[in-house]
Amino acid sequence: MSVPFLPFTRPSIDEDTIAKVANVLRSGWITSGPKVAAFEAALSDYCGGRPVRAFNSGTATLEVALRLAGVGGDKNAGDTVITTPLTWVATANVILEVGATPVFVDIDPVTRNIDLDRLEAAITPQTRAIIPVDLAGLPVDRERLYAIAGKHGVRVIEDAAQSFGASWQDRRIGTSFGDGRDFVSFSFHANKNLTTGEGGALVLPDDIDPGLCERLRLQGVRRFPDGGMDVDVLGGKFNLTDIAATIGLGQLKHLEGFTARRRLLAREYFRRIDPSLGLELPVADFTQSNWHMFQVLLPAGTDRGHFIAAMKQRGIGVGVHYPALHLFSLYRALGFREGDFPEAERVGATTVTLPLFPAMSDSDIERVCAALAESLASNLRSAS
Ligand SMILES: *Cc1c(COP(=O)(O)O)cnc(C)c1O
Repeated sequence: MSVPFLPFTRPSIDEDTIAKVANVLRSGWITSGPKVAAFEAALSDYCGGRPVRAFNSGTATLEVALRLAGVGGDKNAGDTVITTPLTWVATANVILEVGATPVFVDIDPVTRNIDLDRLEAAITPQTRAIIPVDLAGLPVDRERLYAIAGKHGVRVIEDAAQSFGASWQDRRIGTSFGDGRDFVSFSFHANKNLTTGEGGALVLPDDIDPGLCERLRLQGVRRFPDGGMDVDVLGGKFNLTDIAATIGLGQLKHLEGFTARRRLLAREYFRRIDPSLGLELPVADFTQSNWHMFQVLLPAGTDRGHFIAAMKQRGIGVGVHYPALHLFSLYRALGFREGDFPEAERVGATTVTLPLFPAMSDSDIERVCAALAESLASNLRSAS
């Protein structure tokens, strides 16, 4: 009997959602409309009533958040934005996109998130924002983060692309942990815990005009009741469709269940992974993290490419999220070098993402763990 391939992630879309998407397709209105408005209202509810606007990607929300925060507008101002080098490259690309300069702070090797012990020293008068990332869904310590940001009056744009459904000290990620001047960005990419296929949402600070956010989202257009329009700001093309919003509304009903299932599966990994394999496990947080990913670090000397191939041979999909981004050619060309952020480099070079998604069964976890042991053993054989 051949076992089906187990990918590292797979979305769960229920039949009711599929039927509702079909209704939208038949309705005659498929781009931004009533479904987007309903999705935004549901997201705002989730975030404690804060204003939320939907976008066609998480990347777009980050770029618009930077623009709304006034970052990089004046090319001569030398604006800098602090973030982590261990994230999806989108987090840093948007900083370049708005004409600012990324400043990386190495990670804490335990949480694999930005090292809060080193954050404050990186803040200068040019620092216009901090973009923390909740890697794999493990929240950055909000208390310490906002204490540092508040002390220096620096705005925070939370890249919560991976932490929708997670919480910090019993409060949802998406609510405000600062003074209300913080943005929160979510991604609804196909692999994220809640998906719209592609999409994102931006939670807005108290001091930002949601109307301006809407104009930056769609060509800067301002419409008047008499049918006229004006364009007073350079906006992009970042609106979400009603098709996508309908998927999001269907997904929201399952969010709690998805998160609970992911936490149980993560516990199973901790129970079943043989400590003698020498894998470095993530932080065992089963109440705050949404377990967007289950990432282990391979033992020193393991050939990661060989390991991934060995797992694939056993029907198991393994991902890499992510190599330290300052070593990509684009960033090397800006002057970043090997050795700049050694913790992020070590994690980036040894990390692998094991399968974890709500539809997985407990026996899938067993399968992964058996394949892990075999693949690591075959790795050692091939090296000797
Ligand atoms: C997915 C992701 C993004 C970008 O989201 P998109 O919806 O793909 O544009 C940004 N930051 C992080 C950490 C992500 O995981």
